[in-house]
Amino acid sequence: MGIAHMHQRTASETAYQTALAQFDRAAQYVSARADYLEFLKYPKREMAVNFPVKMDNGTVEMFTGYRVHHNTALGATKGGIRYAATVNLDEVRALAMWMTWKCALAGLPYGGAKGGVVVEPKNYSPSEIERLTRRYATEMIVMFDPRGDIPAPDMGTNAQTMAWIMDTYSMTVGHSVPAVVTGKPIDLGGSQGRNEATGHGTIIAMVEALSRQGSHNPQETRLVIQGFGNVGTFAALYAAHLGYQIVAVSDITGGVYKASGLSIPEIFAFAQRGSALNEYRDQDVDFVTNDELLALPCEVLIPAAMEGQLTDRTAPHVKAKLVVEGANGPTTPEADDILQDLGVIVVPDVLANAGGVIVSYFEWVQGLQAFFWDKDEVFRRLERLMRQSYDRVALTAEEKKITLRTAAQVAAIQRVADATATRGIYP
Ligand code: NAD
Repeated sequence: MGIAHMHQRTASETAYQTALAQFDRAAQYVSARADYLEFLKYPKREMAVNFPVKMDNGTVEMFTGYRVHHNTALGATKGGIRYAATVNLDEVRALAMWMTWKCALAGLPYGGAKGGVVVEPKNYSPSEIERLTRRYATEMIVMFDPRGDIPAPDMGTNAQTMAWIMDTYSMTVGHSVPAVVTGKPIDLGGSQGRNEATGHGTIIAMVEALSRQGSHNPQETRLVIQGFGNVGTFAALYAAHLGYQIVAVSDITGGVYKASGLSIPEIFAFAQRGSALNEYRDQDVDFVTNDELLALPCEVLIPAAMEGQLTDRTAPHVKAKLVVEGANGPTTPEADDILQDLGVIVVPDVLANAGGVIVSYFEWVQGLQAFFWDKDEVFRRLERLMRQSYDRVALTAEEKKITLRTAAQVAAIQRVADATATRGIYP
């Protein structure tokens, strides 16, 4: 049975279809045996769990969670855990596959994984989320391992979630194991800069892309950012710090737009208080829907919310000349073609949002050697790795006359295919 038939049809099968379609586009440029390439398409191991959680009012509610290990050719699997109502096995498979390419491209000794729980976190109290997290972690004890599979935060989870997973794992094995997760709070062995890493890295990739297009003036470069969570906020704050003009940001409720540039620190402070952006009141600011936001006039569009945002429906209206993917899988293959026809350069997710996993790797390394770096050191190393990856992708794109997306996948798949060939097929 081919892999296209392996997964069930679900409402959001698009992410996995996108991941497989991207793979097929890239595979023709990879020097590897066809049967090895077929192997690289499959998730190695998948686990689904259904588990009960006690609610604050004494009732019990059932939840479903997943963890997928995509590939282990280069080392332990690494990948975030997502809490969202839309989580499903196909989405987790896609995200795990993208993690394999992201780690390979950045030169990290990791394979890809992803996990998720079908839950809308804002509908539950902190103590309910803690019990849900601890139960999910216990159910997944056979998957998580500091040398085998290391989770991190993703949509709907954060440093506190990682602390609960680390504590649950540690209680089960009988001693503290900080290296079983990354994205931990700093006082539990987290790394300086991990919180900001993905957003910072996205802006490093953006600056690299803009500089390669010629000289540019940050004050005259307008940015539109979709998603104002971990990735979106730190991308916005760092870009604002560098002097770029951020004209629009959004969350799930919609966005705010100001042609002459928004005050990001002010909006950040507003969002920090837990308010949704559609409640933001400022007489100079226009409210826009997420679809309208994607079509706003700007130089750079940064999708930093979730997958499947730039589609054959929304991509034709994009005015930006550069799209930098802070989110995973925000652009469908059809939208990729449309953007290419429009002359829009797309800096792909596996390159543009690798900052998170790169600093996760730094956290893991610092934890294992019990020696911690300051923030400058972390950002210096992050910048160096991001630039190296960008160079590798740009060179591959030039040599093979392909898009940055395909080039990033080619460079990544090549590394995993080479490792697979060198290791050999067991037994
Ligand atoms: P988050 O939960 O912190 O923030 C998500 C943001 O997107 C929120 O502002 C939310 O309101 C908004 N959003 C959700 N659904 C939306 C929709 N349908 N339309 C518009 N906005 C919507 O999540 P995050 O950690 O910032 O992750 C965002 C994206 O970046 C995801 O695709 C994630 O996989 C990817 N990513 C995250 C990291 C990381 O380190 N956190 C690393 C790499 C990639």
